[in-house]
Amino acid sequence: MSLKKFTDILFDRDPDARIDLFKVFPGLYRIFERRKLHAICRTVGDIIFTFIIIEGLFGPQDPSRNCILFLAWGLWWPTVVLSWFFVGRMWCGFCPFPGLGRILQRLGLTWHRPVPRILSKYGTYWSVALLALIIWIEESTGMKESPLGTALLLLAILSGAAVCAALFPKQAWCRYLCPMGRLTGVASTLSMVEFRPNHDQCRKCTTFACKRGDEDEPGCPVYLGAFNVRNNLDCLVCGHCLKLCPYDAPQLNFRNPFRELIVNKGRFITCSYIIPFLMGSQLARFFAEGTGSILEACSHAFSCHMLLYSMLLLAGFLYVYCVNRIGALLFGMTEDELFGKFSPMVPIFLPIAFAGELAYRLNYTISKAPDFFPVVGRQFGIPALETWTFSCPQWLYPAIDVPVMLIAVIAALYVLYMFVYSEFEGMVARWRYHAIQLLILFMFGTYWYFMSRGW
Ligand code: SF4
Ligand code: SF4
Ligand code: SF4
Repeated sequence: MSLKKFTDILFDRDPDARIDLFKVFPGLYRIFERRKLHAICRTVGDIIFTFIIIEGLFGPQDPSRNCILFLAWGLWWPTVVLSWFFVGRMWCGFCPFPGLGRILQRLGLTWHRPVPRILSKYGTYWSVALLALIIWIEESTGMKESPLGTALLLLAILSGAAVCAALFPKQAWCRYLCPMGRLTGVASTLSMVEFRPNHDQCRKCTTFACKRGDEDEPGCPVYLGAFNVRNNLDCLVCGHCLKLCPYDAPQLNFRNPFRELIVNKGRFITCSYIIPFLMGSQLARFFAEGTGSILEACSHAFSCHMLLYSMLLLAGFLYVYCVNRIGALLFGMTEDELFGKFSPMVPIFLPIAFAGELAYRLNYTISKAPDFFPVVGRQFGIPALETWTFSCPQWLYPAIDVPVMLIAVIAALYVLYMFVYSEFEGMVARWRYHAIQLLILFMFGTYWYFMSRGW
């Protein structure tokens, strides 16, 4: 690995520069090919998930006596969110949700029906709708404070994956319906790594075993095959195809994290729907947490809480949607004769959306971490643990939130710069460029304002 290539990637001097991590670290290739580490991690994950679900369903419902809330919302989910930036969709290779479905399929308990068109064609819309539903339910019902609600959410995703596995071959849920997978896929367009084949090798391939499989191994679990992977949206980075490929074509590339955003230019409908909703929901969440419990404002009336939160989410969504539209109008074009319709503001705002998500999740972790051991102590009757606590200084929130959001704003400004001075060179007037820069800073200011209410 030459230093020049590394700096070329880092500073985006050569758009095509990549470093194949499988070649640089052959041990990594073996890990993906042999899949022992995946099996160990999945087993550990299965045990923890089973514990979370059982304790959520049957354990104490008092949040101060049930540690599964911190395990699920304070450890697991922020770790997954953090992983998006570094390893993209790799989490999916270890995810325990498809486990039950795989067992059903191994036992032959599957109908093996062909995936219907309503899923293959409209699955994106379903998964985005499911994601919106989950965020709405998660926030409006205060799920992060409810062990039962948390367990039911995990059970619902597990059941969805199992039902799909019982009806269709392989992992139809993961390809078409999983809301978490959809979110992870969109976030992974910003990742430092990408899973891609060496297309020169694929051109001479006659078996396409990565998709079809062979006598011993099934092919790609999401009907994709390495040769079809052109972005980070759908590939699970599970590595199943490594063993199947006769030419060692699959690569795990280190790349400039903004390259895919620049190349995609907001052409994918998934991103266009998810980004405004995610950002809107974050503004609503930061607002609600900075303003004190909405539940208290509603005198603990559940329906009032749900209604208020729904209105907040809607207001957040409409706000981001309008800013998005203004940005698109300022950009001056949303259609190109080469690649059709696109949403220029979506890839520009995408880093802010996922930085906001990371900041929000880390804030939860910081706020709940000091109580973790005392909660475990109360839950399992270990008095010694009840005194194992510490305090997190209040400055830790801005110390994390501000750098995370600043990096995201720099990324957004960079993507805009690349659009104006490279991809659409000479097509966006200078005043429009500066106006969109101001819009990005305005969005940053909005986040700052709502975030700072909780610091
Ligand atoms: S798509 Fe969803 S269920 Fe499938 S592996 Fe990814 S997160 Fe898990
Ligand atoms: S990844 Fe391998 S198996 Fe798949 S098409 Fe390319 S060369 Fe063939
Ligand atoms: S192409 Fe398919 S088998 Fe290969 S890593 Fe991606 S999801 Fe897994």
